[in-house]
Amino acid sequence: MIYADLHVHTKYSADASIPPKTIVDRLHAHSLIKAVAITDHNTVEGYYKVRELASAYEDIIIIPGVEISAAGGDIIVLGVTELPHEPWTVKNILAFAKERQAIAIVAHPYRAYGLGDSAKKYTFDAVEVLNGSSASNANKLAQNLAKEMNLPGIAGSDAHQIDELWSAYTEIQASSNIDEILKAIKKGFVRVTSAGKSIHF
Ligand SMILES: [Zn+2]
Repeated sequence: MIYADLHVHTKYSADASIPPKTIVDRLHAHSLIKAVAITDHNTVEGYYKVRELASAYEDIIIIPGVEISAAGGDIIVLGVTELPHEPWTVKNILAFAKERQAIAIVAHPYRAYGLGDSAKKYTFDAVEVLNGSSASNANKLAQNLAKEMNLPGIAGSDAHQIDELWSAYTEIQASSNIDEILKAIKKGFVRVTSAGKSIHF
């Protein structure tokens, strides 16, 4: 079983302050959460820094990703180490993810910069149903959206500052292998947890 925070920003996001070294140190020190997806806004620079620092450790997993400011709302793509070409329409980003066998996730659909109900018009791989920085009613609506779209739900802290790390995370039925983790998310072998409590929806 892998416990992963699937939505974390580094200081390479314009609005975040977490140093890559802190993420690596905290992950190494954590007893349960040993995996993180680096999902900076429109850059993969932070991911490369974290990965480089993490290479000194064998017990932690760094999943490449990015949170794209698409027209209409934010989209998280996991499993990519480059940015899509512009224009960043939802359609273009989904095509970009598909070509790379990456995972396209509706980020915090019912918050500012969320796609909301318009996500239903497209084919995503998962919905972020538990965002550590969203209000509980927004997460509840996201859980309903995942049910309606028949998609797996994932969780992440959306940490922009150090003390927000790991506030929500995803339990994934996979071994310590990034490809396997991504496939397990796509298949829905996941459960979401916040403050130590599993959430069923
Ligand atoms: Zn975010």
